Amino acid sequence: MIFRIYTLFPEFFHSPSRSGLMGKAVESGIIKFEIIDIRNYSEDKFRRCDDYPYGGGSGMVLTPSPLFEAIEANEKGGSCILYTSPSGTPLTQELVKELGNLSEISLICGHYEGIDQRIIERFVHKEVSIGDYVLSGGEYAALVITDAVARYVPGFMSNKDSLVEESFESDLLEYPHYTRPYDFKGMCVPEVLIEGDHKKIAQWRHEKKVEKTKGVRPDLYKKYLMRLILGE
Ligand code: SAM
Repeated sequence: MIFRIYTLFPEFFHSPSRSGLMGKAVESGIIKFEIIDIRNYSEDKFRRCDDYPYGGGSGMVLTPSPLFEAIEANEKGGSCILYTSPSGTPLTQELVKELGNLSEISLICGHYEGIDQRIIERFVHKEVSIGDYVLSGGEYAALVITDAVARYVPGFMSNKDSLVEESFESDLLEYPHYTRPYDFKGMCVPEVLIEGDHKKIAQWRHEKKVEKTKGVRPDLYKKYLMRLILGE
């Protein structure tokens, strides 16, 4: 999988692309990062890439020309081009899985008030938001998207089963985890987990998933109930 990232801050990606599972995947060639410095395509002698918004208002806007040139120079036609944006389609596990089937994803990281609309209209296949809050730059969102998507790339996860048991599968959040020691500062592991009855463990975990989802995410819980009613 190729992640091509258009950014004003290429150094932002240095450590994340070299650490942990992502670092291993990059080393083994499963994942490739192409970090494109938008400023390299600026014709301004100070490499500026922002300007005042038409119509007035506060803040600056990323000018179209450097981004246009950067995209034209680096896209060969096979990539899904995403713009990280708070007003985009919310990133869900479903969307993550869809993106995980692709072989090439390009991410445009916005800054200031955002990028010129004409770039979105010309190149962008989908605007993606990582949540209902505003970040200072698209780099944070690009990191979230690349990490979530990479987990679905064959070979990224050493244990594929981890993907099946996770939060959001069947519209439920995950059950709680415990490891050794059994008694940690007087807090003990639930008995059911040490009795070795796998049927009971599965039932306990399911109950915990439902309980957590009902309390924390009533929206998901409703979806889960609907699926039960429809027998899905
Ligand atoms: N003026 C924009 C608005 O109100 O929607 C916010 C711009 S924000 C300060 C700068 C950049 O951060 C955006 O262009 C976008 O690339 C990125 N960004 C901010 N919040 C985001 C979010 N929730 N999801 C994805 N990207 C986000």
